[in-house]
Amino acid sequence: MTTIPDTKHRATCPPWCTADHDEQEHSDDRWHLSTPLWLPVVELATISPSNGPMRSEEFGIELTIGIEQRVDENEPYISVVSDDRERGFRLSLDSTRRLTVALSAVLHDVWEPR
Ligand SMILES: [Zn+2]
Repeated sequence: MTTIPDTKHRATCPPWCTADHDEQEHSDDRWHLSTPLWLPVVELATISPSNGPMRSEEFGIELTIGIEQRVDENEPYISVVSDDRERGFRLSLDSTRRLTVALSAVLHDVWEPR
């Protein structure tokens, strides 16, 4: 396990890390974190009222996208988390790459159907 001293700028941090490790309470649960990107998106949610028919409704939400890596791990993950922090993913770099390719293929089918 890598030991990180309690200073704000660390030689052991990856170049993208902007975390203030002094603010991370548990020394055995520290994460390198990038500056997050906030992406407003429109989500189609299914509403199931108890006294009416199920319907779909658009909601504006904000996704937080960033790089995360436990200080004792070698590989970063890409996090995509909803603004309520109740939903999200931490994907490996390879999974993120494959998801990006798949999303591009799906969008291509929508915008440029065969
Ligand atoms: Zn760091």
